[in-house]
Amino acid sequence: MLSNEKITNYAAPLDLLADRVILVTGAGDGIGRAVARACAAHGATVLLAGRTIAKLEDTYDAIAAAGGCDAIICPIDIEGATSDDFQQFNADIESQFGHLDGLVNNAGILGQRTPLSHYKTDVWERVIKTNLSAQFELTQALMPSLQASSTGASIIFTSSGVGRKGRAFWGAYAVSKFAVEGLVQTWAAEVEGMGALRINAINPGATRTQMRATAYPAENPETLKTATDITPAYLYLLGDDSLGINGQSLDAQAAKK
Ligand code: NDP
Repeated sequence: MLSNEKITNYAAPLDLLADRVILVTGAGDGIGRAVARACAAHGATVLLAGRTIAKLEDTYDAIAAAGGCDAIICPIDIEGATSDDFQQFNADIESQFGHLDGLVNNAGILGQRTPLSHYKTDVWERVIKTNLSAQFELTQALMPSLQASSTGASIIFTSSGVGRKGRAFWGAYAVSKFAVEGLVQTWAAEVEGMGALRINAINPGATRTQMRATAYPAENPETLKTATDITPAYLYLLGDDSLGINGQSLDAQAAKK
């Protein structure tokens, strides 16, 4: 059994992701931005996917200022994207790089914090599309590039504590995260033993981002880990030290004692 401490305290070598191409969705803000920066700092070429170009440019500038490796801005609204858009995304990666070594399905939305009896259907559909269906479609479309990785690609989906144990008023968000856990287990079982490709989930835990502040407006953000604090778990799963880890749902933060 993989120890949580091994992941949360993971000290990544600086060249962990050298020569690798890693795609991060929601790379303009919060956890995605921090993960993109950490990947670049560890040698990767990072594809910054997201829907707000100004935010992606900001992440790009931060990577450049830190002297990181290449980053490329890839505007995409995963909620509105069609299967043709996802296929085109894969074709662009294939023609430019020939392979994709890591995919971090991080983008997500919160939806409403309200009883299910009052939950709006249109919000429900948006949350399920963004947090689940679009991530499935994107990953499926990118599979040819991921399977072309010579190092064995690592695919990460983003879970949540409310995707493991139901909690009142978390509505479609909780349901989408439960489904992500199921998607990871199902897909991981299908790829088990088929080379080094691996599919896992990360639960970031309470992290100081805009989404967390929206969900818990009365909370003091200073009491929370920053997005940068939790990047070791992502680096662990993206690099060679996690070869053979497949179908797991890992915590990016140590359990509180
Ligand atoms: P943020 O709201 O800070 O960032 C979410 C990112 O997703 C933003 O960059 C946002 O883009 C992007 N995004 C949302 N919708 C779309 C879309 N349709 N197309 C493309 N990009 C989109 O959230 P966090 O960083 O906190 O969350 C990141 C992930 O971690 C989410 O999956 C979340 O559920 C999960 N998580 C977070 C926790 C926390 O405590 N923060 C705890 C547990 C799980 P834009 O800024 O342009 O809107």
